[in-house]
Amino acid sequence: MRSLDLLLELFRQNGLKITPQRRVILELLANDDSHPTAEQVYQRVLSVMPEVSRTTVYNTLRELSELGELTPVHDLSEGGQRYDTNSETHHHLYCVRCHRLIDIDRDFEGLSLAPEERSGYQILSRQVTFYGVCPDCQAAEPETE
Ligand SMILES: [Zn+2]
Ligand SMILES: [Zn+2]
Repeated sequence: MRSLDLLLELFRQNGLKITPQRRVILELLANDDSHPTAEQVYQRVLSVMPEVSRTTVYNTLRELSELGELTPVHDLSEGGQRYDTNSETHHHLYCVRCHRLIDIDRDFEGLSLAPEERSGYQILSRQVTFYGVCPDCQAAEPETE
C-alpha cells in the first residue's frame, strides 16, 4: 500500500471525494499490517470518529480493492474477509490459535509448477502460508475446558 499522500492523490485521480471519513480510513490502513477484516477496520475508525457509518467503511475498502491497494486474503479468515495492505507478492505466517497473520519478507525462489503439473491452468499468482502457533499463544496457559 502507498503512503497516505499517494493514496489521497490516487483517490483524487479516480474522481473519489476525500471526505474526513475516508481520510481517517486511509490513515489507519496505511499503517496497518495486521490483515484486518472489514469489521475490525470499522471498529478502529469508530474509535476515532464515532459518527462514521459501516457502509462508508465497507465502500471505501471496496474502492481500495478495486484500485489494487488492498488484496483480499483467502482462506485465512475468521469472521469475514481480511484485507492485506501489502499489495506486493508475498507470503504469510499464520497462527492457528489467535489467527494472527504476518507477512514473510522472502521470495521463495524457484517456486513454480512445471507445465505438466499445471493441468492446463494459466497461473495468476501464488502464495505460501506457514501454519503454526505464535510466541504469544505458546506462552499463554493452555486453555482448561
Ligand atoms: Zn497466536
Ligand atoms: Zn500479507
